[in-house]
Amino acid sequence: MPADYDRAKRAARDLLAKYKITKAPIDPEAIAQAEGIDVVYATFNGQIGDQVAGYSEPMNGRIVINRDLHTNRKTYTIAHELGHHMLHKDYLDDEGAYQVFPRMQSYDGTPKPPEEQEADAFAAALLVPLDLLRKYVDFASPSELSRMFLVSREVILNRMKWL
Ligand SMILES: [Zn+2]
Repeated sequence: MPADYDRAKRAARDLLAKYKITKAPIDPEAIAQAEGIDVVYATFNGQIGDQVAGYSEPMNGRIVINRDLHTNRKTYTIAHELGHHMLHKDYLDDEGAYQVFPRMQSYDGTPKPPEEQEADAFAAALLVPLDLLRKYVDFASPSELSRMFLVSREVILNRMKWL
């Protein structure tokens, strides 16, 4: 099934509206907790720590984040994993078991699965809502916007394409 970006963005907008969030930065951890999802930080040993940013267990209502990530990446990873909880709660793997969604640090050019693309679209829409970005974009530089929204410059530049 191809990625359904509209559904992902709608889910993010619905959450922002539900919690009446109108100011940056958006705190995805607070939203997750309000939704009854636990966000826990863990040390991932050795190689796993270099490869995995975090993972979700939607069936257990839990997001696990790599403690060693830089703040912007932590925030983005929580938002991304929250997307899996909102969009992919009932996803099963080939064996019929509930899916765990690891977020890799890099995909090395292999195409991301549709669920990963949807979670990314959700995270971008949640952390940088376009109506909020529109308010500041004319008088703040991408670097300033990056600090304001607590996301990377790359995410800001990406969102600016949609204005
Ligand atoms: Zn993911």
